[in-house]
Amino acid sequence: MAEYDFDLFIIGAGSGGVRAARRAGAHGKRVGIAEESRIGGTCVNRGCIPKKLYVYASHFAEEAEDAEGFGWTVLDASFDWPKLVGAKKTEIARLNGIYDRMLDEAGVSYIEGRAVLAGPHGVEVAGRSLGAETILINTGARASRPEIPGARHAITSDDAFDLAAFPERIAIVGGGYIAVEFAGIFNGLGAATTLFYRGEMILRGFDDDVRTTLCEEMGKKGIDVRLKTNLVRIEKKADGLHATTTNGDVMVFDQILMATGRSPNTDGLGLGEAGVELAPDGAIVVDPYSRSTVESVYAVGDCTNRLPLTPIAIHEAQCLFETLYKDNPTRPEYRDVPSCVFSQPAIGTVGLTETEAREALGAVDVYRSKFRPLKHTLSGRDEVTLTKLVVDAGTGRVVGAHMVGAEAGEIIQGLAIAVKAGLTKAQFDATMGIHPTSAEEFVLMGEKVTDAGAGAAQ
Ligand code: NDP
Repeated sequence: MAEYDFDLFIIGAGSGGVRAARRAGAHGKRVGIAEESRIGGTCVNRGCIPKKLYVYASHFAEEAEDAEGFGWTVLDASFDWPKLVGAKKTEIARLNGIYDRMLDEAGVSYIEGRAVLAGPHGVEVAGRSLGAETILINTGARASRPEIPGARHAITSDDAFDLAAFPERIAIVGGGYIAVEFAGIFNGLGAATTLFYRGEMILRGFDDDVRTTLCEEMGKKGIDVRLKTNLVRIEKKADGLHATTTNGDVMVFDQILMATGRSPNTDGLGLGEAGVELAPDGAIVVDPYSRSTVESVYAVGDCTNRLPLTPIAIHEAQCLFETLYKDNPTRPEYRDVPSCVFSQPAIGTVGLTETEAREALGAVDVYRSKFRPLKHTLSGRDEVTLTKLVVDAGTGRVVGAHMVGAEAGEIIQGLAIAVKAGLTKAQFDATMGIHPTSAEEFVLMGEKVTDAGAGAAQ
């Protein structure tokens, strides 16, 4: 066998790439990893982590208002955007350092620079030609923008964290995870926030009750949600960005954030030339073991467009380590993956939506509870929490659990174990509640809903 510089070379030091590098390095493999931007990828630098920090920041205005109902007087609360941006930068730099050290401790060679594939076993990076027995692509995804006149004046979520000035008026375009999360962030921090979504109801693919509940709650918090409306043009003028909508309205904003989806980051990497097949959307085509159409080249994470979530990229990398180096071929598992949209209020979800369950199973029982959480009896806030269980009527198995409300992600993470384990509604009912919590609703829902399936959003 040819002697290569590395056993494993990884292009892209995001969540999946770093996990694969650390495991293989600690296992005694000679591992190299190249990164053209900052170590940690989207999650650490431009995604999950800074987003969650900004979500925390944006909650404090409401907390101050709510505190009054509990006897507090909060005087002169004010918000300093540059201070938040600076604190975030410090924390992300700390995390970059931790990632760097972890790779070092695993004996991984870290190379700064853009790497491109040069054949099935070759990589070119930082002026060097390197050989590797196995190559792993982990280049992630990048924000895509609609091709409307003036789209260049808009920002994406990549830019939103580090804006030089806080936008007093912001438009968000899109109705997915990123759109609703950033609408909540900017609205909470005090911007006049408008969300334009082209479809009938935000968050296509989520449970319909979840979609409509979040949309109503966003409206109550002051976000101007404009459904069935898109932007057709953006013009930069002295007083701001003039956005023309599909209804012919012209509205003026300080910033317009395009949250209109992400595309696999696979351009100009030498993939096609090396024989790596790409799907029409640019995603690397892989088999169930993450192997591309070139035997020695694998791919994990958002560049494969399987399920673009950080824990999934890490899981795919972990499975690949088992397959390549532990003589234990392991396929990533995608059933019952829980997720949280860090909207305000948050969404937690695992398993099938009601619509999916009806299509897959036919007879389905639905349990739903909408209530005012205890905190808001004194705060006076008009906010409801939704909990919903979708049950296979034939077996009694809970096939979906959904929530809109405070800490929905924390609550659904625990419930996901029960759903993944295939527990039944009777087993949920046999579990004691923790009183008083919102989570206890999941073990107290006695009455099936009778309007199930009615009024489904599009
Ligand atoms: P999504 O695919 O979730 O949403 C894209 C949105 O943009 C949709 O509402 C879509 O509308 C709309 N859209 C697409 N093209 C256009 C267009 N030309 N004009 C107007 N609107 C358009 O992408 P995101 O970028 O929000 O997120 C990408 C992925 O990243 C998510 O799917 C998720 O997996 C992951 N993510 C996860 C997070 C979490 O776990 N909390 C947070 C952020 C991202 P339509 O529905 O009509 O297609």
